[in-house]
Amino acid sequence: MRGKNPIRPPVSDDGSQLGVKNIFATLQGEGPHVGIPSVFIRLGGCNLACDFCDAEFEDYDMIPITAILHNVHKLSCNNKGKSVRKLVVITGGEPFRQNITPLCDLLLANGFNVQIETNGTLYREIAPKIDIVCSPKNTGIGYTKIRGDLLARVSAIKFIISASDEKYKNVGDIGQDLYNIPVYVQPMDEVDNAKNAANKQLALELAMQYGYRLSLQTQKILKID
Ligand code: SF4
Repeated sequence: MRGKNPIRPPVSDDGSQLGVKNIFATLQGEGPHVGIPSVFIRLGGCNLACDFCDAEFEDYDMIPITAILHNVHKLSCNNKGKSVRKLVVITGGEPFRQNITPLCDLLLANGFNVQIETNGTLYREIAPKIDIVCSPKNTGIGYTKIRGDLLARVSAIKFIISASDEKYKNVGDIGQDLYNIPVYVQPMDEVDNAKNAANKQLALELAMQYGYRLSLQTQKILKID
């Protein structure tokens, strides 16, 4: 896709159904919850179109949240029918583009932990128990400050690092110090071995120099979804 997605505006409705690209069981591959067996809900559409975007989230279907929960329940179970994958990761696209509050409440009420991955430009009120990881994007003139209502809720910030693109070479000051939020640096996947090697080296150097945490896309190393 790589930035070719249409920019889709936020949706205002009751959240009883959501645009869903796919739902699947996997390991969380990135950030603070890396390695946790999870069920991913990839929501359709994004309000941004980043030129490095490696996610497929268009061609989605509108699905009632009761059906989403049913699917999550099935995918959380091992081959003995025991529910073992208790982390549900809501990603996209941009999750806050849609009214995810009712889905989050439903998942919590059914015993799941919920993590949201957001680009930091949108926010909706959600239950305090929900974990939010923010991966801010760069507008070309630097990373924009995280909006105040979201910043107070963010548990980790993940910066994508690229040695070949000036605007992604450094970690921006976007308010992380205010709440002492842990910062992760993750090498950008540019689908180019030489560029990716340079990106990894730069992310490692930034981690060592500033005390950031290194995040690798282990799902790509393991070749899983
Ligand atoms: S914010 Fe994330 S999902 Fe949206 S276009 Fe950028 S990288 Fe892709």
